Amino acid sequence: MSKSVDYIIIGAGPAGACAANIISKSGKKVIIVGKVLGGSHCSINSTSSEVLVNFSKSFEKFRMVKDSYISGDIENVALDFKKIKKLVDSNGNKSKKSFLENMEDCQVEFIEGSACFSGSNMVDITTGENQVVTYKFKKCLIATGAVAPKSSLYNTKKNLDVAAFINMEELPESVAIIGGGALGVEVASFFTRFGSKVTIVEKNDRLLPIFDPYISKKYEDTLKKRGVTVVTNHDITKIERVGQKYIALSDAGSIESEEIFLCTGIVAAISELMLESAGINTDEKGRIIFGNNLQTDNKNVYVAGDVSHIMMNSSWAYYSAMVAAKNMLGADIEYTSEILPVYIDSDPEVAMVGLSEEQAKERGLEYGVFKYVFGNIYGFANLSGAQTVIKTVYEKNTKTFLGIQAMGRGANDLIAIFAIIIKLKLNVEQIPDFVYIDPVFNEFFNEVAEKL
Ligand SMILES: Cc1cc2nc3c(=O)[nH]c(=O)nc-3n(C[C@H](O)[C@H](O)[C@H](O)COP(=O)(O)OP(=O)(O)OC[C@H]3O[C@@H](n4cnc5c(N)ncnc54)[C@H](O)[C@@H]3O)c2cc1C
Repeated sequence: MSKSVDYIIIGAGPAGACAANIISKSGKKVIIVGKVLGGSHCSINSTSSEVLVNFSKSFEKFRMVKDSYISGDIENVALDFKKIKKLVDSNGNKSKKSFLENMEDCQVEFIEGSACFSGSNMVDITTGENQVVTYKFKKCLIATGAVAPKSSLYNTKKNLDVAAFINMEELPESVAIIGGGALGVEVASFFTRFGSKVTIVEKNDRLLPIFDPYISKKYEDTLKKRGVTVVTNHDITKIERVGQKYIALSDAGSIESEEIFLCTGIVAAISELMLESAGINTDEKGRIIFGNNLQTDNKNVYVAGDVSHIMMNSSWAYYSAMVAAKNMLGADIEYTSEILPVYIDSDPEVAMVGLSEEQAKERGLEYGVFKYVFGNIYGFANLSGAQTVIKTVYEKNTKTFLGIQAMGRGANDLIAIFAIIIKLKLNVEQIPDFVYIDPVFNEFFNEVAEKL
């Protein structure tokens, strides 16, 4: 059976849903096909981990207040994971419902199924009943997200990736996290808050390799102060189950723990798409090739969200969906990489936007660097450790900001402000013209203005 539609979107996560919304609001007919409505956002990832992370934060605060400021007998307090799991599931269902309502409001047709290309302007959709319907399209968006690849490191029946972390029913006494990137440090922070003995293992010589070495180092120091064992330069080659323990082996040594989680990265979900049927090319790493307008080698097919590999967070999913959808409707706009923020919800928070010092150097820019460290202004409430550390890179002649990286409480909000400052090309003389929230931002912005 074959049908025709102007716009078709593959993948019903945040990127796909956002693009569908924009296209349908312009009065066009759009179909969105997805295996799960809401994508990763409603299934294993964002929503579930957000609930768990928020619980872990509350639990740690409670424990600190209990240990230091509450007298009386409230020992043996423990979190009930079964109840939390119920909440996680119910939140996921609520999110799915709100995605569905949103689709209905926008009059977008959602088809639950799996899609692949069968020609340059044709998509085959297979639904639950194994029925295949071919759709001829004018424009198509690939928003299929990313998946954790099957790891060759272990051969146990149990899944050791992020899905296992979210479905966990009991807290382990000791846990090893393999991978010191964004997800790894978030998971490490989660277990640390509950008092598990955490070891984080990274194959590079430092955690968070996408950040400036100065921030990475401060970050690592803070984790160590919080009791996390940080092991770098360990490229794990095998994981074995011995008795009740996992043993992670590398040339540099072995790490033993009760639980182990792999946070070694995710890859674009494109293996089922039959890209070659539509003339969509991939590079040597197997990633879809596209331009800054998010158009692939097939000029009627665009990409948005995690599948693009530019970034893997919801901010990028929504922003890239907006750029792609507008271009699918006839605009010609490009995404701006300089304003894409990265935020890691760990203890401490870490965030960045714009160019790092290394990137400014690579581009041959005349730049200066400004670093700033705050003390423990939040007292016990600043559980992340004692310091908020900031590094900014600015253009010497114009005194405009090129980039900023920050660690500590408020890092996220600071980076959001800087994304606007960078986009508007505000210079340092304009900085004191605004009123900032006291104490962190006020202190920092005044210091920046004075020093530069
Ligand atoms: C543990 C965890 C925590 C996270 N926390 C945060 C956070 O705090 N903040 C944040 O901004 N981001 C977070 N993220 C990332 C965020 O979830 C993703 O960036 C976002 O969901 C990407 O949206 P997307 O639409 O590109 O892809 P997805 O949400 O992955 O949606 C893509 C959908 O397409 C479907 N699909 C794939 N192939 C096909 C096919 N052939 N046919 C039909 N459908 C298909 C997939 O099944 C999936 O449902 C987190 C991720 C993880 C793993």
